[in-house]
Amino acid sequence: MNFEDLIQDIYHKIKTIEDPGEMASYIPELSKVDPTNFGVHISTINNINFGIGNYNDKFSIQSIAKVLALILAYRIVGDEIWNRVGVEPSGTAFNSLVQLESDQGIPRNPFLNAGAIVVSDILLSNLKNPKEDFIAFVRSISENKTIQYSNKIAQSEKKVGYRNVALCNFIKSFGRIENEPSDVLDFYYDLCSLEMSCKELSELFLFLANNGNDIKSNKSVLSESQSKRINALMQTCGFYDESGEFAFKVGLPGKSGVGGGIIAIHPDQYAIAVWSPKLNKKGNSHKGMKFLEEFTTRSELSIF
Ligand code: GLU
Repeated sequence: MNFEDLIQDIYHKIKTIEDPGEMASYIPELSKVDPTNFGVHISTINNINFGIGNYNDKFSIQSIAKVLALILAYRIVGDEIWNRVGVEPSGTAFNSLVQLESDQGIPRNPFLNAGAIVVSDILLSNLKNPKEDFIAFVRSISENKTIQYSNKIAQSEKKVGYRNVALCNFIKSFGRIENEPSDVLDFYYDLCSLEMSCKELSELFLFLANNGNDIKSNKSVLSESQSKRINALMQTCGFYDESGEFAFKVGLPGKSGVGGGIIAIHPDQYAIAVWSPKLNKKGNSHKGMKFLEEFTTRSELSIF
């Protein structure tokens, strides 16, 4: 498969289509990003690395960081994590409160804001210096010391994070948050503020295409079974309540963020990252979704 020609071809086509999407202006700092940014980068387990457009520019990865938080918590507490957070798609918006009442404060999955807040609480209870330890973990699996939080973005989100405050307090009212909600949320905003480029994202997530093993060092980040479970969750819950549509049209495990980034994994093949900041009504990058749909259709490579 000549990924380079295919990616170039699709990139130039999607770049020119009209984009009816909107920026994630509910986090004021995110609306300052140039909406015309568009980048793609693929990393394969056979060591093909190819990028186009703004693939080297760092952007706010937002919810994509929820996968990294889950991976670290899963490594630390193992299967106990599933007592605190479920593994079912919710069919609701990423910041919804509704199911928490009937589910007694157990979020349906770790990629909802509610779920990631619980995962943040678990990390807070288990790490000595959560903010430093988390970034050290991300840097170690990516072998990239330049990855940083954005204090500007974290503060911008904190100022308007009323829903996340509500979610965290609501879960705490069921006795399912151990730490102070304000500490949990500070950590949650920090992790959502991580900035990475498409190139960095596809390189970092490649281990999920390689049964949980780092490609270069062959060190295990997750066991094969844990890696399977993370991919399964990304497949079923990675795109808010558009996860079914992403499976239907793209057919890969993946995760989106409201910064306009998407990471998608083809087990045993590649990790691909796309960034275009304007979002569709469900909160996923409009052009990113279109790009990946065409990419898996024309390459005839999806997990189905
Ligand atoms: N930090 C964002 C929030 O809590 C994450 C949302 C997302 O990327 O889906 O609203």
